[in-house]
Amino acid sequence: MTPEEFRLYGHRAIDWIADYLAHPERYPVLPSVKPGQLTDALPAHGPERGEPMSDILADFERLIVPAATHWNHPGFLAYFANSATPEGILGELLTAALNGNGMVWKTSPAITELEQVTLRWLRNWSGLPDDWFGLIYDTASTSSMHAIAAARQAADPESRSKGVARGLVVYTSEQAHSSIAKGAIAVGIGHDNVRLVPVDAEFRMLPDALREMIERDLAAGLRPCCVAATVGTTSTTSVDPVPAIAEICERHNLWLHVDAAYAGSAAVAPEFRWALAGCERADSLVTNPHKWLLTPMDCSVFYTRRPDVLRRAFSLVPEYLRTEQDPRAVNLMDYGVPLGRRFRALKLWFILRSYGREGLANVIREHVRLAREFAREVDADPRFELAAPVPFSVVNFRYKGTDDDNRRILERVNAAGDVFISSTVLNSRFTLHLAIGNYATTAAHVERAWQLLQEATEA
Ligand code: PLP
Repeated sequence: MTPEEFRLYGHRAIDWIADYLAHPERYPVLPSVKPGQLTDALPAHGPERGEPMSDILADFERLIVPAATHWNHPGFLAYFANSATPEGILGELLTAALNGNGMVWKTSPAITELEQVTLRWLRNWSGLPDDWFGLIYDTASTSSMHAIAAARQAADPESRSKGVARGLVVYTSEQAHSSIAKGAIAVGIGHDNVRLVPVDAEFRMLPDALREMIERDLAAGLRPCCVAATVGTTSTTSVDPVPAIAEICERHNLWLHVDAAYAGSAAVAPEFRWALAGCERADSLVTNPHKWLLTPMDCSVFYTRRPDVLRRAFSLVPEYLRTEQDPRAVNLMDYGVPLGRRFRALKLWFILRSYGREGLANVIREHVRLAREFAREVDADPRFELAAPVPFSVVNFRYKGTDDDNRRILERVNAAGDVFISSTVLNSRFTLHLAIGNYATTAAHVERAWQLLQEATEA
């Protein structure tokens, strides 16, 4: 591609993106494709000779877009809805152009230092301790795996050289995300050694049950090493009592990891800082700007107050990457599994600067306001019931009928194409789950969801 062609097609691509962002409603949130349909529509073999960009772009619109689930649609109200803001998209575009790789400081001072600077801003806006070290991974799953690896290193320093000793145990709540158990599997602790601590009626970990489980394991000669508390659980956004959990971890010298993948972002608004109470006592914490801080996939922020432990677990420097020692030249490859490091901080920087803390806080506030408004509607309708408290921007609710009734309602609502809501299971009952997290979602989208729910119920 010549520079002139790049300019031409680049403008076309930007025009397409601008139209897409301006009129997302022209697409159904969920595509109406069958499994395998896209595969069958594409050639079985790649082209022998290069094809014109105009054909590729045309096929993008003709084949790829109709098979996409539109996460960036304001009617996307499922799971944890998220956003690729125009600001974030520009950052991502320039990241691709620089194509940097922040393995060590020298291979990209900009990646290394901007990552440190943006995470310092975010830490400060969220009321987290100033001396925490931060770095960006792709996902919360990767971040939490590193937390559990650090916990393993702290409890069993020989694990790095000799492999994992048996008997290490990780604790998390019944409502924790599966990434915690996967992390324990990945670092060799094993799924059988992940204890799921029961929760209270509002889906928060019970500290007394945690204490009892730890004491029972200690009495049995096992080695508790890590507790993963959640601030904003996946189904209900419940917040575990971190201060009480921190107390237990300190008494037993256990690594405390906090999974704040979703709700951590809320702390940019001072009235939601309560959610991170006690987190200053944690050893590590993950929060995902790609969930609720308007940042395109992927961007997961991992903080730890004990980077030395992470470094002991993972630093392994091949000769070709040895560089001069300068205390300000951090080599991020020393703190985890990945060597290559995308310039993810660039899009985050674009967003932090263009919105400012106050702008981000206002988006969070509006999402919470919309969720609570929706919850009020549900609560006021005798045919429906709320299934969990609404501390943030997610509402779990049920039609007061059978699980199958609720399944049918969900299918009907989503088939309309205007909105997409998801489901979960709470207290063994199928539950509808509406999540607000896209920057373009307004009251009209939430009202449309409620209208579709009414129609589906009547039908
Ligand atoms: N933690 C929580 C609380 C989540 O809800 C999720 C996913 O929704 C994850 C972790 C995993 O996130 P990721 O997709 O970034 O690995």
